[in-house]
Amino acid sequence: MLHCGKILISGCLAGLSCSYDGQIKSEKSTVFREIFGKAEKLGYSFIPFCPEQAGGLATPRKPAELQTNAENILENRGKIVSISKTDVTENFIKGAKETKKVCELFSVSGVILKEKSPSCGKRKVYSGKFDGNLIDGMGLTCFLLSKCGFQIFSDEEFLTYWDNEGEEVFQKLFPKP
Ligand code: SF4
Repeated sequence: MLHCGKILISGCLAGLSCSYDGQIKSEKSTVFREIFGKAEKLGYSFIPFCPEQAGGLATPRKPAELQTNAENILENRGKIVSISKTDVTENFIKGAKETKKVCELFSVSGVILKEKSPSCGKRKVYSGKFDGNLIDGMGLTCFLLSKCGFQIFSDEEFLTYWDNEGEEVFQKLFPKP
């Protein structure tokens, strides 16, 4: 029997209109949907999920940025605020924990997250000053999943592997349980 590998993916990469501005990331989601079709034949399925919606935030919503690093925020030593200065820390923490629950529930082989997001970013997030600048750092959900040992790739990392290695990338990056 073919074992199924499950991969959690940021909902916006899969074509859900969950981004803060309520828009669909059509170019990237088209690329990922083509990949989903190929992955399915190899026994992989994707779980689209949005931590910020799961944390109780509306769509559309005001953009938000971390005011310190993700570790400090998870340990109640800092906040995430929206551009209108609303404290949305609790929503982001809840969303990160809900994402972890889904990953555990489905025993995912790995996770693909949208770079630069305050929840999903893996290597870069916005500076916290709403000035459009990026800094090194992880989004809150990415940090929590990584702390729990999940295999995580940003969309940019995954697509680079995909371009170089095609379908073999699945078994290599996301070995099935
Ligand atoms: S929280 Fe993650 S899944 Fe939701 S819109 Fe932002 S980047 Fe996409």
